[in-house]
Amino acid sequence: MSSPALADFPALLRGAGLRVTTQRVHVLDALRRLPHSSADTVFAGIRDSLPGIAAGTVHGILNDLTDAGVVRRVSLPDVGSALYELQGDDNHHHLQCVQCGRVEDVPCAIGAAPCLHPSHDHGMRILEAAVTYRALCPECERNGNG
Ligand SMILES: [Zn+2]
Ligand SMILES: [Zn+2]
Repeated sequence: MSSPALADFPALLRGAGLRVTTQRVHVLDALRRLPHSSADTVFAGIRDSLPGIAAGTVHGILNDLTDAGVVRRVSLPDVGSALYELQGDDNHHHLQCVQCGRVEDVPCAIGAAPCLHPSHDHGMRILEAAVTYRALCPECERNGNG
């Protein structure tokens, strides 16, 4: 997926109809540096450059950015908290190591959402297939886990 530079974030926020704030730009920059981060990880990544910011503020910003479509919330199996990443205009899926939790992006299996179609849709219109490839990363494989 494309990763916008720091200077692009104000335009990104304005394009989504959001007010540009230093805190929002820092949250977006943290997700550029650390994709698939929990709110706590984002908080830990920006608290040094934004003294005084509260964890609750970061949660609120992530919710606003998700609602505005700037950020995508990812729920993965066995991961207690939601993870966040910048919303690209792709429909990528995730490879997840079942041992250490490492997460990598992989391109959509077919091309565009919903990518995969079930054999029966029960009359529902499919929006997307949220595919998680459960895997073992090379390090965990070498360490003999699994
Ligand atoms: Zn691993
Ligand atoms: Zn991703």
